Amino acid sequence: MTTETIEKVEYIIETKDVDLFYGSKQALQKIALNIKKNQVTALIGPSGCGKSTFLRTLNRMNDLIPNVKTTGEIYIGGENVQDPKIDMVNLRKKVGMVFQQANPFPFSIYDNVAYGPRMHGVKDKKVLDEIVERSLRQAALWEEVHDRLDRSAIGMSGGQQQRLCIARVLAVKPDVILMDEPTSALDPISTAKVEDLILELKKDYTIVIVTHNMQQASRISDETAFFLNGHIVEFADTTSIFTNPAEKETEDYISGRFG
Ligand code: ADP
Repeated sequence: MTTETIEKVEYIIETKDVDLFYGSKQALQKIALNIKKNQVTALIGPSGCGKSTFLRTLNRMNDLIPNVKTTGEIYIGGENVQDPKIDMVNLRKKVGMVFQQANPFPFSIYDNVAYGPRMHGVKDKKVLDEIVERSLRQAALWEEVHDRLDRSAIGMSGGQQQRLCIARVLAVKPDVILMDEPTSALDPISTAKVEDLILELKKDYTIVIVTHNMQQASRISDETAFFLNGHIVEFADTTSIFTNPAEKETEDYISGRFG
């Protein structure tokens, strides 16, 4: 007789029954998605199907939009994200975000990376120096910029700016990094650098990425959720989604029949 051990899967993000309305328009319906730690999870689907909206529920970025109503359960690291008493500064530190358009501050490279730690009270120059170096190394940017940390971030290339934005997120040691089409404004070489970086970062972080690029999803993600019209059609390991999807709608989408 064999003894089977059932491994307990650790989910860092747990969501259930998530509905979201922009005014009277429903953009998310009954989203239930549990995301494993130290994995890359890709959200794919045609434009307007709710991927970015869902991503933004994870760090309450939708709160910035008027007339948004979100219901359901959203837990990150066991903490109720929807709790009105949650410390938002701490939530945004725990759940960092990288956007489609790199958005560095018009400051020096150093001050961009040091911004978050300073906001969280780090003043010691030596500690800040260490954080800046560690974050830029982790973002695979240190070699390119270590001799010009005092130069403006605005003079960097688009790909460097996006890696700087990743370094800025890393500087506050988040648990989860949300990425909303982080390479769609980049050339293929910069895209490849960011993809390599994502694969490296998943050793230490959990990454959720919205991408309209299916090759990208298949290259870098462990699991993929296919969204359509505000709901999830299918969520499975990325290889199954791309080679043996369970749902006809998924198959039609990945084979380019729509979207
Ligand atoms: P995706 O990321 O899959 O392209 P979005 O999450 O951006 O989709 O959008 C989902 C739906 O919600 C779309 O119909 C879109 O028009 C709508 N929507 C997104 N943002 C807003 C907003 N700020 N106000 C009103 N409707 C919005």
